[in-house]
Amino acid sequence: MKIFLNPGHGGTDPGVCSKHGIKESDVALAIGLQLFNRLKLNGYPVELYQQKETYFEISKEENKSGATLFISIHCNGVSDPAAHGIEVLYCEGSQKGEKLAEIMQKQLVDITGLEDRGTKARSDLHVLNRTNAPAVLVETAFLSNSNEETMLATAPELFADAIWEAIKIYNKEGLL
Ligand SMILES: [Zn+2]
Repeated sequence: MKIFLNPGHGGTDPGVCSKHGIKESDVALAIGLQLFNRLKLNGYPVELYQQKETYFEISKEENKSGATLFISIHCNGVSDPAAHGIEVLYCEGSQKGEKLAEIMQKQLVDITGLEDRGTKARSDLHVLNRTNAPAVLVETAFLSNSNEETMLATAPELFADAIWEAIKIYNKEGLL
């Protein structure tokens, strides 16, 4: 058992930037580090990697790691400031990925109170396709929405808590 955490973007790629200059890569790292500490304290083998140059590094590191679960942490962002809510993406055809996405979506919605945009199967994302372990990509909330921007910037622990609860449930079901 090993959990590979990937805070999205990083290095030369900040990801989405909010209108107040909050970077997706920084929020994802804040959530990822809180989650890393929680896993470590509870004796779960865990590795955290954020890209320096390109996302190809992520699958390369994951492939070396022997991970049994891969979680990529992101924030959404679109031009419409009204768009809001949570989505968890998984690799099309992965049963374990789909199961984890469903568990995680529910925990995130329950703990943050944000809108449930549902889980989504994707076949076009490198970090889901090229990782060996069952993989999910969490779109925590929208940095382009001012309410959600505030929550992401001031309460990253809510997202870390929800993902941590989801990992415990996934493990209890014997899937990790
Ligand atoms: Zn992203």
